[in-house]
Amino acid sequence: MAYDKPIPAKGTNTGPFWEGAKAGKLMLPHCKECNRVHWYPRFICPFCHSMDLDWVEGSGEGTLYTFAVQHLTPPAWQQEAPYVTAYIDLKEGDRMLTILRGVDPAKPEDIKIGAKVKVEFEPANDDMHLPFWRVVEG
Ligand SMILES: [Zn+2]
Repeated sequence: MAYDKPIPAKGTNTGPFWEGAKAGKLMLPHCKECNRVHWYPRFICPFCHSMDLDWVEGSGEGTLYTFAVQHLTPPAWQQEAPYVTAYIDLKEGDRMLTILRGVDPAKPEDIKIGAKVKVEFEPANDDMHLPFWRVVEG
């Protein structure tokens, strides 16, 4: 099925993320000064305020920090509701907001905080692949 929802605008300084996503890699902004990754991409490190940043390839692994079942959604997402949004603690550090796959939104009691998750990418069009996360254990 073709992806039929709004596509994020490519912000400035996010090219490596989108190039990586298209290749199935989770690229993360990294600060060369304090050696930490951060999410989302920005021009300045949120931890030490250095502007000496580059990109590193993340493992694509993480753990579930928290989640919410979405029933009332923007119109483009209504046909998918209910679905689960989640914050993922990235293995490399910091936290990413996502849509969580591989869980039943009708059974939130089965979704476990701390579950191991892995990133996957879905093509939105020929140029842009979007990251989603899937529970792989727990
Ligand atoms: Zn830093």
